[in-house]
Amino acid sequence: MKAPDFVYVRPGSIAEALALLADTDADATPLAGGQSLMPMMNFRVAAPGKLVDLNGLAELRGLRVENGMVRIGAMTRYAELLASDDIRENIPLFGLALPHVAHAAIRNRGTIGGSVALADPAAEIPALLLVLEAEIHMQGLAGTRAIAAEDFFLGLYETALQEGEIVTEIVVPARKTTEQFGFYEFARRHGDYAMAGVALKVGGPDHCRIGFFGVADRAIRATRAEVAYRDGGVPAAMAALDDLPFDGDLNAAAKTKRHLAGIALKRAFEGIS
Ligand SMILES: Cc1cc2nc3c(=O)[nH]c(=O)nc-3n(C[C@H](O)[C@H](O)[C@H](O)COP(=O)(O)OP(=O)(O)OC[C@H]3O[C@@H](n4cnc5c(N)ncnc54)[C@H](O)[C@@H]3O)c2cc1C
Repeated sequence: MKAPDFVYVRPGSIAEALALLADTDADATPLAGGQSLMPMMNFRVAAPGKLVDLNGLAELRGLRVENGMVRIGAMTRYAELLASDDIRENIPLFGLALPHVAHAAIRNRGTIGGSVALADPAAEIPALLLVLEAEIHMQGLAGTRAIAAEDFFLGLYETALQEGEIVTEIVVPARKTTEQFGFYEFARRHGDYAMAGVALKVGGPDHCRIGFFGVADRAIRATRAEVAYRDGGVPAAMAALDDLPFDGDLNAAAKTKRHLAGIALKRAFEGIS
């Protein structure tokens, strides 16, 4: 199938993009890497009247390290993140996880901002950002604002982004020398969306952050398991997952997801570096 008719516009500035997105009559929608939006349009799951292409906006691309923070433009592509020495050094969790995001061709086009805005429950990036205590920066006609990743992902494909706003930047604290990271996911084939996956940040024997993806309607933090880890290590953390809102999907029933989440957590802890 092919996409329904739409108007295509390529703004030259963020201000111009925001003005175009304000056209609610045309159901204007941002286009980033197109790796989710274009298939959704071709399957006619999405039918925006106007595509506002963000690919010409240089101010949304690239990354820099500043005052202990890594600032990543929303239009930075997965492949650029994987190739970056700054990312390898300051966000090693990205290095562990990004090779599992889709396939090389999709990573060449797909953007971090696109993943954040889409909020697919099985996507890796939202869970990584929860674990890393990242902030999402947005801009709309009313101005700019920033929200902690923890408050940004609200439900199935649902975020705190408001109509007409775009994600401009993702800000991630740079790694502290005491921190280690772990990642593990179950997928039917490497590069497919995960059936269940987990990302970890371990700050010592009594501190960790745990984020799951592919198991519920959104990326979720396992706060009870984080506390259990402090008191009883990995077995206690694995046993403290029953309060999470596991959801079944086409891949697996909720009970299977619960089982896979425990094993993924164990393997992620085994592989921390
Ligand atoms: C075969 C296949 C396998 C895949 N496997 C995985 C996987 O394993 N893990 C994974 O995480 N993803 C996977 N993906 C999805 C891929 O990562 C997408 O690139 C990503 O989800 C969306 O990024 P994008 O830049 O392509 O955004 P687009 O497809 O262009 O946009 C996605 C949505 O976000 C909105 N949007 C985009 N950028 C912004 C912005 N800056 N501000 C506001 N709204 C914005 C768009 O309007 C649209 O609604 C897969 C895709 C395919 C086709």
